[in-house]
Amino acid sequence: MSDDVMISLENVSKRYRGQKAPAVEDVSMTIHRGEIVVLVGPSGCGKTTTMKMINRLIEPSSGRITLDGADVTSLDATELRRRIGYVIQQGGLFPHMSVATNVGMVPKMLGWDRRRIDARVDELLDLVGLEPGQFRNRLPGQLSGGQQQRVGVARALAADPPVMLMDEPFGATDPLTREHLQNEFLRLQEKLQKTIVFVTHDFDEAIKMGTRIAVLGERSMIRQFDTPERLLAAPADQTVAQFIGAGASLKQLNLRRVGAIEYDQAQLVRPDESPATVLRRLDESGDWAVLTVDSDQRPLRWVAPRDLTPHQTNLEGLGIPAATVDARATLRDALDAMLTCSCGAAVVVDDDGRYRGVVGIDRLMRAIGEMRDTERDHDRGITEPAWHGSSGSWKLAVPAQPGGSR
Ligand code: ADP
Ligand code: MG
Repeated sequence: MSDDVMISLENVSKRYRGQKAPAVEDVSMTIHRGEIVVLVGPSGCGKTTTMKMINRLIEPSSGRITLDGADVTSLDATELRRRIGYVIQQGGLFPHMSVATNVGMVPKMLGWDRRRIDARVDELLDLVGLEPGQFRNRLPGQLSGGQQQRVGVARALAADPPVMLMDEPFGATDPLTREHLQNEFLRLQEKLQKTIVFVTHDFDEAIKMGTRIAVLGERSMIRQFDTPERLLAAPADQTVAQFIGAGASLKQLNLRRVGAIEYDQAQLVRPDESPATVLRRLDESGDWAVLTVDSDQRPLRWVAPRDLTPHQTNLEGLGIPAATVDARATLRDALDAMLTCSCGAAVVVDDDGRYRGVVGIDRLMRAIGEMRDTERDHDRGITEPAWHGSSGSWKLAVPAQPGGSR
């Protein structure tokens, strides 16, 4: 089992000069290879201090930290940068340096030659979804928040470190960008299998990202260290329960991925088809709208009968834009997507943005109902397999839309 341990903190404390109380007091925890451990707790509770002691940006006042079995105090700064990538808000990029220089910083420090660094930079930009030719020479200030964050992740991955420390990495981005970055990062992690310590003050983010979650109280004292499922089902004490907050059932939506439930199917039509085709397809299926898709099966818009007028020859630009989610999105993300497009459905797409299916509001409600039942059975000690898709046909239920469809 100890083979499996990547990071351990043993009775670690940190007292800042001139502070009465320690910022971190007597923290012990073990982090296994390949897991994402989330440290979640209120602002000022010592999350950043705890994290920075792992890569020795801050020295502990007492206690011991090991990385892959070695005491971190025995490793020099270069070795630590090679083995631990570090990502902070907005990527923590140097504003006067190009994207390429930022990403190539650790390899340069490690003495790689120019060509190897250039090749690695391009490989990494590709990996995080930024076209190298387009982004290599830009300055951070010329990028959006989400793009800066991707560059920050690329930079942390530069020397292929086994461990990544991420301090509120997506905190400065708007909710939609944050959701994308979270999903992209989870996708990347499926491939890379890094050991990750992830700090956030957002409990929903903790539930989504964590293999295990450490709920921290003041001075980083661990209130509970458990899987997301266990945390929601059995908070260790009143403080944790309060932190989870009201609506634990609704928070369960953060646990379940879109890919784990059965999809509904929409009527797909190309935008160059006629209104008559739409009416026929709806008549046959009983749906309220068809979904237009491009030649690569990428979803475009929902078109309902009320969007049609007799003199139209095709469906170009009609209806409302479809909201899409990928299979890694949580049911909570799907719900948000439905509410944003006010069409009562989220279209599930694959990694290339192609249509896979639809999660309608009915389906989502049913999933919530099942979760409640499972919770109840669990409380009664019944151990049924937790999740299986329910059958049933899909009729998109459209919520009332004041002001028509646009
Ligand atoms: P968090 O990341 O959870 O918001 P921090 O680790 O940044 O918390 O801070 C924990 C506590 O330590 C806070 O009370 C903060 O004011 C204090 N602190 C952080 N850095 C320093 C420092 N360099 N000197 C003195 N006190 C600090
Ligand atoms: Mg912090």
